[in-house]
Amino acid sequence: MAKVKNWQIGRDMEYPIAHTPPKKQVTYIFDINKCIECQTCTVACKTGWTSGKGQEHVFYNNVETKPYGGYPQQWDVKLLASRDLVKWKRGTLTTPTIFEDHAPLDPPTGHRPTEDDYASPNLGEDDIFGRVDRGAHVDGQHPMWMFYLARICNHCEHPACLAACPRKAIYKREEDGIVLIDQERCRGYQECIKACPYKKTFFNMVSRTSEKCIGCYPRVENGEVALCVESCIGKIRMHGFSVPNAEPDPKNPIDLIVKIRKLALPLYPQFGTSPNVFYIPPIHVPEEFLEQMFGPNVHAAKELYRRVSKDRELLGALLLFGASTRIITRFEVQGDEAVGWDATGAEVARVPMVERAFERERFDEKHGTFRHNLM
Ligand code: SF4
Ligand code: SF4
Ligand code: SF4
Repeated sequence: MAKVKNWQIGRDMEYPIAHTPPKKQVTYIFDINKCIECQTCTVACKTGWTSGKGQEHVFYNNVETKPYGGYPQQWDVKLLASRDLVKWKRGTLTTPTIFEDHAPLDPPTGHRPTEDDYASPNLGEDDIFGRVDRGAHVDGQHPMWMFYLARICNHCEHPACLAACPRKAIYKREEDGIVLIDQERCRGYQECIKACPYKKTFFNMVSRTSEKCIGCYPRVENGEVALCVESCIGKIRMHGFSVPNAEPDPKNPIDLIVKIRKLALPLYPQFGTSPNVFYIPPIHVPEEFLEQMFGPNVHAAKELYRRVSKDRELLGALLLFGASTRIITRFEVQGDEAVGWDATGAEVARVPMVERAFERERFDEKHGTFRHNLM
């Protein structure tokens, strides 16, 4: 066991393997408030990377409805239920992570889903928590809720899949922190499937090996965003980099949103893997539910999101979501526009801070027709 830094839980923790952090870490931010569960991301990834034999049930990207949905079924509920209640004290996790709650040489705490758990990729879709009492909508009460959770591999800083693999077939790339499975070394023991708390490795019945999201590394090497990011209809996703253990850079939109303003939060930080997909929590969902999912900073993040129009820098960074197919590494707010540049220094996005609106004449003389304005 090695002692490693884990800023997401506010303390050092035990991890089975000593390793040097990558030079930079691929990072994603998903704004849950904007996801419409159209599954375009899922289809883009599926057609791009997993359309072969034995990959029928493999979804590197999936989008599930919370609180009831999940793929594989109940992936998170099963792990949460098997462990003690999580406790935080002033931003520090006081209960053990999945690397710390057992004897030092044992693999990370986990479970292997059954075949049935993979049978229905979107069970629970659009199921709502709560019920509407008669007339509830009239007096302004809206007690029911649900939200869509888009999920890919988190390319964790301390991957449980990597720690559990007896063949050392899983590795984290030094240049960008992407976590990959070497298909030549893998013998299909499925220890990674058991260990990954997010269930983001999958067993291929035909190749008899495990596989996972490849972080679209051929695209990343060319400075392009991942397929699931580029195709996102709701523009809920930002794809970029952060440098581990370095001072956060306010000109890097990822650093500004995640580390400086702390608007986007990791999914189940208590597991201890330091995931690198960060979520802007849904503001309409009760905080007791969100806190077990995103940790103790939920309230502050929700409040900040509500008044984001007063924070021009933060608003500018958020407006750049989905604005380019290139990875934006630097941004600025210039007058009434947010501007983004890629790693080569080329300007790749320029978006207005306020969406422009035009009011049309009710009668269009040129075309001899009446127009409606929907504002
Ligand atoms: S494409 Fe975007 S909006 Fe549609 S389901 Fe995926 S993450 Fe949500
Ligand atoms: S999400 Fe799972 S598969 Fe991905 S790096 Fe983390 S532990 Fe490994
Ligand atoms: S990063 Fe690429 S491989 Fe991973 S889920 Fe998105 S599209 Fe699929």
